[in-house]
Amino acid sequence: MTAKKKLGLTPRILIGMALGILVGAFFKFLLAGEAERTLSLFGAELGLRAFFVDGIFHAGGQIFVASLKMLVVPLVFVSLVCGTSSLSDGSTLGRLGGKSVGLYILTTAIAIAIAIFFAILVSPGAGVQMTSDTQFSVQQAPSITQVFINMFPSNPVEAMAKGEMLQIIVFSVLFGLAVALTGEAGSRVRALFNDLNEVVMKLVSFMMALAPYGVFFLMAKLFTTLDLKDLESLGWYFGTVLFVLCFHGFIVYGGFISIFGRLNPFMFFRKMKDAALFAFSMSSSNATIPVNMETTTKKLGVSNNIASFTIPLGATINMDGTAIMQGVATVFIAQVFQIELTTMDYLMVILTATLASIGTAGVPGVGLIMLAMVLQQVGLPVEGIALIIGVDRLLDMTRTAVNITGDAMVSCLVAKSENQFDEACFNNPDAGRNS
Ligand code: ASP
Repeated sequence: MTAKKKLGLTPRILIGMALGILVGAFFKFLLAGEAERTLSLFGAELGLRAFFVDGIFHAGGQIFVASLKMLVVPLVFVSLVCGTSSLSDGSTLGRLGGKSVGLYILTTAIAIAIAIFFAILVSPGAGVQMTSDTQFSVQQAPSITQVFINMFPSNPVEAMAKGEMLQIIVFSVLFGLAVALTGEAGSRVRALFNDLNEVVMKLVSFMMALAPYGVFFLMAKLFTTLDLKDLESLGWYFGTVLFVLCFHGFIVYGGFISIFGRLNPFMFFRKMKDAALFAFSMSSSNATIPVNMETTTKKLGVSNNIASFTIPLGATINMDGTAIMQGVATVFIAQVFQIELTTMDYLMVILTATLASIGTAGVPGVGLIMLAMVLQQVGLPVEGIALIIGVDRLLDMTRTAVNITGDAMVSCLVAKSENQFDEACFNNPDAGRNS
């Protein structure tokens, strides 16, 4: 008897996603605007919303996201200590940091410039008459000095408890460097961290195997509650953001990979599928760190020394997809409120959006909070955000997938330039397949 070929992870996640969407849409149809409907099952009265939507779907999805988030801090700390403790000297680290931050800022600035260009071309807000009573409160953009100060933890345990990614990175890098410079005792600690790293990566693969179920619950809950009534009036805005996200994700990243990395972009995208699906269903670059680390190191051939640094850093400071939404949204809101923006304003938008993304964690919906800072900077009404909230959930999912693809792309380029890249692994379509 021949054993049946097991389905790979991507098709399983896609099936989970499709079933989740169907089930969610079905529940939405059953509930059709009603607060609750009951169902008799084995003599018991079950509330459709209370038992399924807010019960099973909600709990299943949240448990999945929490389990992945649970891995982020241990993984970043352990793998970054492994990475930095095996670097030969501090100047390598400085060069690595310079290249990664430089590329992250460059790609974000390109992303937002393209977004503004297409938004001006399409004019998604021209002729749109919208009112909204949703209120949106603004947070002050942190000053550049504050961003730097905030990177240094006064208490590493507190930084880890709060999941402050930049602070965790700074502490782990310093700790790793100290391990590298501590001779005998340092090598024992390094060996321990290398073992710990294997264990944490094993945990990551457990979680990945559960992904199809997690994604099912997340989609089922989302599609029961998703309200798409604004999609019609916001169609042009939605379409423009989506188009620029695809353009940037495929053309710009594909171009960088083939021109600067001299690598096959199709292979890159093929290997990014799972990580992008994770990001899409969770809308969080931070929660995707474990999966993206696994993808870049095991499938794309980036060494752990590089990926342990570039992936968590990218999840925090590199948000090209988010910048794209902000570029299009700024033009859209200016058009709806009939406010002319000057070239200087657009430059200001590029600068503020790029800086805002540095200090903000990659969590669901944070892009809108950053948008408030951008709008305020160029004197546009912050209430404008209320106009686009209705379609933001779906865009958030898509832009998160772009955000994490950018992190992986930069990791490949940095690794290649540092000779820390396994090209045979990159070119092997089966590398890192765990099923
Ligand atoms: N959800 C996005 C991320 O985690 C951030 C955003 O655009 O809201 O990368």
